[in-house]
Amino acid sequence: MNIKRIRVFKKTLPIPGGKVTVGQATLSELDSTIVQVTSDSGVTGWGETCPIGPIYGPCHALGARAAIMEMGPGLIGACLNPVLLHRKMNSLLNGHSYAKAAFDIAAHDLIGKRTGMRVTDLLGGAATELVPFYYFIGVGSVDEVVRSVKEAQAGGYVRIQTKIGGRPVEQDIEVIRKVGEVLKRSVRWAVDGNRNLTMRDAILLSQQCSDLPFVLEQPCNTLEEIGALRSKVRHPIYIDESGVDLSTVVQAIGSGLCDGFGMKITRIGGLKPMATFRDICEACSLPHTSDDNWGGDIIGAACTHLGATVRPNLFEGCSWVNKISDESHYDPKNPIRITDGHIALPKGPGLGLEIDEAVFGAPIAEF
Ligand SMILES: [Mg+2]
Repeated sequence: MNIKRIRVFKKTLPIPGGKVTVGQATLSELDSTIVQVTSDSGVTGWGETCPIGPIYGPCHALGARAAIMEMGPGLIGACLNPVLLHRKMNSLLNGHSYAKAAFDIAAHDLIGKRTGMRVTDLLGGAATELVPFYYFIGVGSVDEVVRSVKEAQAGGYVRIQTKIGGRPVEQDIEVIRKVGEVLKRSVRWAVDGNRNLTMRDAILLSQQCSDLPFVLEQPCNTLEEIGALRSKVRHPIYIDESGVDLSTVVQAIGSGLCDGFGMKITRIGGLKPMATFRDICEACSLPHTSDDNWGGDIIGAACTHLGATVRPNLFEGCSWVNKISDESHYDPKNPIRITDGHIALPKGPGLGLEIDEAVFGAPIAEF
């Protein structure tokens, strides 16, 4: 199975509630890039990548499209088997894993459709048909965050994540302590700094909230800071943004830098490297998520299919948006939806989506 045609689409996704603040960025809409890959046997697969603005990670929407345009012509005729596809992409462009991920996801969708298998089965098999989604709450006032925590609990979510950083740490501590008062003990909790805390603020926050049962996710910017912080804080530490590739993950685990990971499928380069990451974590008994920056039904389906394969006692849930909006649905019949804090694994082959390409408008490029 080889690639015969690639089409590239652009889709603007609104943010439910109008805006969200993550770290130093406040965003009001997202710019997603979608690829449609057709094989020489006439089967089509879909992939997507949607950076969360230009400053959350070292990636942005125009960069994704530039990388896809750079690789596109050279991928015509390339083998769709994921290992070989990654080698081919690496021979065409250094880095830019988040753009390569769109082709990787499309290849998995296509192979699944061609073989009649769900992506989750291609990745090793589903441990569950109901995949937990975790609810992330942007930086906000005490009242805003507490309201969202209550909403999440009423919605049946089994895990929440509250964002901190980008303001005086005393405000974050006040919010976190209030969340501790209203959060049920049955709901797991991550406090996510998104790289924005100084070591001083991370230590202060952990000490002043030492009685509260949360994990501290990516409090500081670098692995070196996190390593230096490790013995000075009272909470388990998860790495998210610093886990840029498999090599870094292995290095972080080998150095004992963390107790788990938030991991994003597009950041690590797609479903193939994400499945390898999952296996490394299982071998080391480390919990992790199956996330992405943002996206519509394609990213949602990819997170859900991979998430279903994670050993349940190591799985911290999947998440790729704060709430799913109607505009992020590309499959009008069976879109990815959250019910009681969980997503039902799609039943059909591949990603299990029947995409209406009219929602994207005309392609912006074709190879
Ligand atoms: Mg995170």
